Amino acid sequence: MFVGLERLPAPGEEIRTNSFHATIGGGAVITAVAAARLGVDVALLSALSDPAAKRLRSEKIRVTNLRRPGEPHAVSAALSTGSERAFVTFDGVNVRLEQRLSAALRRATGRHVHLALYPRDTTAWARRLAALRRRRIRTSWDFGWNDVLASDPGLPALIDALDLVFVNEREAALYAGVDRLEDALLFWRDRRPIVVVKRGADGSRALSRDGDCSAGAPTVKAVDTTGAGDAFNGGFLAAWLRGAPLERCLQAGNRIGAASTRKAGGLEALPRRRRGR
Ligand code: ADP
Repeated sequence: MFVGLERLPAPGEEIRTNSFHATIGGGAVITAVAAARLGVDVALLSALSDPAAKRLRSEKIRVTNLRRPGEPHAVSAALSTGSERAFVTFDGVNVRLEQRLSAALRRATGRHVHLALYPRDTTAWARRLAALRRRRIRTSWDFGWNDVLASDPGLPALIDALDLVFVNEREAALYAGVDRLEDALLFWRDRRPIVVVKRGADGSRALSRDGDCSAGAPTVKAVDTTGAGDAFNGGFLAAWLRGAPLERCLQAGNRIGAASTRKAGGLEALPRRRRGR
C-alpha cells in the first residue's frame, strides 16, 4: 500500500511517497477480522499466505487455508490519496479457488455465509447459494468492482439467490447497467435481497421491499479508506447476526467502516467490542 499520495500517477509517471505499508488484506480477511473483533464466531475459507493464516488465527478466527504448498497467493498493490484509490492485483491461486471453496462450503456449518470473491460461474454459484438456503444458512456477497460480472447474464439470478448484497455507489450503478445512482435504485428495488449501498463519508443506505432506510457516518479524519467497505460489512453483519433492525445494522457498519479509515490498511484501526456489548 502506497499511502498519502498527492494524486494518482498518470501513465508513464512515477510518484514518490514516504508512506508504504505491507499488510494482509482483501475483502474476506478484513470483513472476518472486523466481525471477529466484535465478538462474532468467524470461520474463514480462503487461500492465504502462511503469515496471514497465523495472524488470523491470533484474531481467534477459525482458518481453513485453501492454498496448497508452493502455490502463489494473491497480492494487491494499492495506491491511495486521501480520497482516491487504485489497485493492481495478481490473482495467484485465486483463479483456481472456486471448486475448492465450493467443496468446503458443502461442509460448512454456521448461520451465515458471507462471500467476497469474484464469481466466475454465476449459474453454479446461484445453485450453491440455493443449497445453503435449503440448509437455513443465510448469505451475503460483496462483489467489489468487476466489470466482467456486470455484463454476465447470470448476475440477476445470482443476486436474487442472496439475502444481502453489499455495494458502494459506483458498484450500485455498474451492476444495474446505468450511469447514475438514482437510476440504479429501480434495478435494486426489484431484486429479492436487501441491498446495502455504502456511501463513503455520507454513510450508507439499505433498499428492501419493505422500504428504505439510511444512516450517516461518524465524522473522522480519514487517513486511508482502503478496506473501509469490507470493514463496514463486518460491522453490519455483526449487528445483523444479533438480530438488530436494519437501521442499527447500518449504524454499526458505519461505525466500523469509519474507524477503519483512521489508519492505513483495512485492519489496523478496527475496533474491538465495547465492554458489556
Ligand atoms: P468501499 O470501500 O466499498 O468503496 P465506501 O468508501 O463507501 O465503500 O466506505 C464504506 C463505509 O465506510 C461507508 O459506508 C462509511 O460508513 C465508512 N466510510 C468510508 N469513508 C469514510 C469517511 N471519509 N468518513 C466516515 N466514514 C467513512
